[in-house]
Amino acid sequence: MPITNRARKDSGRLTLIEMIMFPLYILLIALCVQWGLHRRGWRGAVLGLLLVFLILPLGAFAWGLLLSAIYTGMPSYPACRTGKCHSSNYRLRRLENGRSALFCACGTPYRKRGRRFYEVQPDGSLRPYMLWRAFRGWFPDA
Ligand SMILES: [Zn+2]
Repeated sequence: MPITNRARKDSGRLTLIEMIMFPLYILLIALCVQWGLHRRGWRGAVLGLLLVFLILPLGAFAWGLLLSAIYTGMPSYPACRTGKCHSSNYRLRRLENGRSALFCACGTPYRKRGRRFYEVQPDGSLRPYMLWRAFRGWFPDA
């Protein structure tokens, strides 16, 4: 069943990246606390701890922004062909052939693959529409 598959995928299990990042995170906290403790005693340790909790989420956020600026696009989807719909107007829906597509509010199906954004044709083929260029934006994909 495709629906249960998708539900399982979205169920919030740890991804491989998160499984690698988590021990690193713990290690970094330990290192910072130890460094602070060594330099300034218990106050340094507290400072180190605060610093980690303050800086790491910001770093992760900045990293996420950077990755999407390079690989996935910001906003995630370009405006549709009529120019009326924007990134947040797209909804993922299932097509008759069992595959899914992103529908904009006008009802046109699109599909995103990596940095490319395609318009799904009535016969199911993909017509190139827009292309994300890292740090520059969405450009027409000729
Ligand atoms: Zn539209």
